[in-house]
Amino acid sequence: MKVTIYGSGYVGLVTGACLAEVGNEVLCVDIDPDKIERLQRGEIPIYEPGLERMVEENSRAGRLRFTLDPAEGVAHGLFQFIAVGTPPDEDGSADLQHVLAVAGAIGEQLQEYRIVVNKSTVPVGTADRVRERIGQALAGRGVQVEFDVVSNPEFLKEGAAINDFMRPDRIVVGTDNPRTAELLRALYAPFNRNHDRLLAMDIRSAELTKYAANAILATKISFMNELSNLAERLGADIEQVRVGIGSDPRIGYQFIYPGAGYGGSCFPKDVKALERTARDCGYHAELLGAVENVNERQKQVPFTKLQQHFGDLGGRTIALWGLAFKPNTDDMREASSRVLMEALWAAGARVRAYDPVAMEECGRLYGERGDLVLCDSAMAAVDGADALVVITEWKEFRSPDFFQIRDSLNEPVLVDGRNIYDPAQMATMGYTYYSIGRGPRQ
Ligand code: NAD
Repeated sequence: MKVTIYGSGYVGLVTGACLAEVGNEVLCVDIDPDKIERLQRGEIPIYEPGLERMVEENSRAGRLRFTLDPAEGVAHGLFQFIAVGTPPDEDGSADLQHVLAVAGAIGEQLQEYRIVVNKSTVPVGTADRVRERIGQALAGRGVQVEFDVVSNPEFLKEGAAINDFMRPDRIVVGTDNPRTAELLRALYAPFNRNHDRLLAMDIRSAELTKYAANAILATKISFMNELSNLAERLGADIEQVRVGIGSDPRIGYQFIYPGAGYGGSCFPKDVKALERTARDCGYHAELLGAVENVNERQKQVPFTKLQQHFGDLGGRTIALWGLAFKPNTDDMREASSRVLMEALWAAGARVRAYDPVAMEECGRLYGERGDLVLCDSAMAAVDGADALVVITEWKEFRSPDFFQIRDSLNEPVLVDGRNIYDPAQMATMGYTYYSIGRGPRQ
């Protein structure tokens, strides 16, 4: 089948590569000339495990192509996927300008029947606005062309995106046209073989399903972070509590890790956008506001621990392990590392940072500055620092040479923002060890 995808970011590029991998002819359209040029050269602008090989092989086979030209995009695919960004607007609502720009471009070029599939995370009612925008463009041209608008939210996780797309837990298709649902079922058939995971529903429910999924995951994290702060004050160990509650199958072990807050391009913006949607329809979504507030506060915890230990942080040097918002990605959008670095800089401290893949992204975000040194290795980062903070739980940080770290630091102070180390072991090795929610000293 022929597929066009607007937006070649984490979602669009993964969708394009996976659809090409199973034999479809995919054309990716983006407005970023640099990105398209790099992709045409076979260079991947983002880090996502397994993506490079897939893009390279499918491009070579001619099944995956890239263009800046929306007219070519509209002419190519029966399916027109919208996978552009929906960043938060100033008031927290989702900024739909990119989605509506694609809708306008489709309307300006449409010649024959197309299925417009919205993969971006968008507020309930956006499919109507997309339909309207395409309709307006058609009316402006004085033509009538049939088209459908479908909501097909994406649930992939950065860092495991290929596997999530290839073996989805569910494929949500929101449409009011049964024929369109069947065409999407055919497109998704290669990813839906083991048992039927395609959930066809009405458009508004599909749009809300995506927000509901992210909001409940964010709620689990904020709940655990709230309890970790309580555990700390009560002298309890949140890690033991975590295992204690996770053993109940109604609760489960997944996604109940306390830490330094959630980040990324989805949870923060989607929780805010859902709260905003609620407000727009006259409902005060109290829980959603609390989830977000708890998270904002939690991102400050590593800084507060450093401040409590050192007092004035002016002139101190802090080693930071992890910049990406989570392991296996280079994405630093809303990352906890950024909150920490910015607080340290404001307090007059310097940062020596290391991340296995997000160094380039960090350089792009912050440029050259005297109070940030991007180090070549984890060990180089701790060299001569006053303390080490671990903020992203990359595998390579799990079992480091603690003796070498201790000897490289001016003071053996370790703030573990993800609870990946054992407090007893840290104490035996002479560290002053702070973690999240594990007793009064930690
Ligand atoms: P991204 O910022 O990585 O990529 C968006 C791309 O869209 C950019 O390359 C940008 O240049 C391009 N773009 C903007 N306007 C365009 C236009 N008019 N025509 C063509 N291309 C255009 O974003 P992302 O992380 O891939 O997210 C895309 C959407 O998917 C968002 O709504 C997001 O909430 C949702 N989503 C993201 C994830 C994730 O893990 N990143 C997961 C599920 C859903």
